[in-house]
Amino acid sequence: MIELEKYYDVIIVGAGVAGLNCALNLPRDKKILIICKDTPDKSDSYLAQGGICRLVDEDDYKGYFEDTMRAGHYENNPATVDCMIRNSQELIDDLIACGVRFARNSDGSLCYTREGGHSRPRICFHEDCTGREITTHLMSAVRACSNIYVVPYITMVDIICDKDRCYGIVAKDSKSGRLYRLFADYTVLASGGLGGVFENSTNFRILTGDALAICLNHGIAVDHINYIQIHPTTLYSKEKGRRFLISESVRGEGAVLLDKNFHRFCDELQPRDVVTKNILAQMKKDGTEHVWLDMRPIPREEVIKHFPAIVQRCLEEGYDVFRECVPVVPAQHYFMGGIRSDLEGKTTMPRLYAVGETCCNGVHGANRLASNSLLESLIFAKRAAKDMTANYSRIDLNAAAEAERKLDLTKYENVPALLKSYKNVVLNAIEEAQREQPHH
Ligand SMILES: Cc1cc2nc3c(=O)[nH]c(=O)nc-3n(C[C@H](O)[C@H](O)[C@H](O)COP(=O)(O)OP(=O)(O)OC[C@H]3O[C@@H](n4cnc5c(N)ncnc54)[C@H](O)[C@@H]3O)c2cc1C
Repeated sequence: MIELEKYYDVIIVGAGVAGLNCALNLPRDKKILIICKDTPDKSDSYLAQGGICRLVDEDDYKGYFEDTMRAGHYENNPATVDCMIRNSQELIDDLIACGVRFARNSDGSLCYTREGGHSRPRICFHEDCTGREITTHLMSAVRACSNIYVVPYITMVDIICDKDRCYGIVAKDSKSGRLYRLFADYTVLASGGLGGVFENSTNFRILTGDALAICLNHGIAVDHINYIQIHPTTLYSKEKGRRFLISESVRGEGAVLLDKNFHRFCDELQPRDVVTKNILAQMKKDGTEHVWLDMRPIPREEVIKHFPAIVQRCLEEGYDVFRECVPVVPAQHYFMGGIRSDLEGKTTMPRLYAVGETCCNGVHGANRLASNSLLESLIFAKRAAKDMTANYSRIDLNAAAEAERKLDLTKYENVPALLKSYKNVVLNAIEEAQREQPHH
């Protein structure tokens, strides 16, 4: 068992791509703690299938910018969109330098695939498990750094703050039950999405928006908390639990959607929210619990090479994608809203950063364009690390001790009940925001 220390230079809550890339871009002389609720592989980053966008060349800038804005209903922040696109080539180079293997053409150049909402192929991928490929390589790089400590089964239950300044976190070891007060010069929330608060979601069930609830409780600004993306195609099942995603790149490569009579009923390459609406309307019209996805228009060799995990999972569920259609249904997938953060990942509370899916910097507007999420998480996590490095200062230890004295530890005695109350904080905030400004 790892014994946690009382002070770190930087504490990062979350071991997905955002948390890992933030740690890797901090100086090696900083002592960094990364915690995660379960084991590190239980992050949505690990599940990402389709890929990660990259600006193909200068000629692609206008199209990529417009595709992102159009998918986001022009509610995106143009400055963050520009920043993401401009940094995408360097970021993909970083990943390749880290050992990540992307699909290549026969001449060795990057092979791009396409997904809904994209006017051209610009998505780098590794089979249908791009997230696993990226996350495992980042984790190996992190493990090679003696200054970074990754500790599983530690749940942040609160932040420690006083006079609007963050000094660290309160965390619970879910194995030993021990409660920790952990102090840091900077705290980074990289705790992912909130699919776990919904009955049907592609997300890991442990991702319940804890950081969001904590920020709401402390008056830290959050934006568009009701901007929730529903993915059009998850494998239909009568069982409860996490929904298996069937990547949009399947449709990008030629798969089609069919109604109960096996007729096409929509343009499969529209942005996600449009395709979802079409599917839900068709299900209502047909009185069915799903529609069909037909992967047979994709050449067999392409399916075998590009989508092995999807083929396998469908087989396990009793569907042979080479011979028959697969039943699919929309499910909660992604969170466009989140803790308000700027281009450097700074929240409205000094010394507290938020990066990855838990934050909202406006890149995605009202609806995320496919394969922009890994990219956004990685780029803004790196920027947060660079910002901390450039402006590094120590916390005031007296003020931190004063904040510690003010903590009411009885609040954390029953952590399951506390986390349940956090779920309700999130659900109520979503409901309230939806009443005030409905998400279309
Ligand atoms: C099935 C699926 C497929 C996807 N496919 C793609 C794709 O092809 N391309 C793309 O760009 N995006 C895709 N996405 C979205 C993308 O994977 C995520 O948005 C992105 O990986 C988020 O990264 P993150 O680091 O912010 O969070 P995550 O990777 O989800 O990591 C969150 C971390 O926070 C930890 N955590 C949470 N709460 C606490 C707490 N209270 N205390 C301690 N730790 C905590 C968790 O344990 C975990 O380690 C997909 C998502 C899913 C679910």
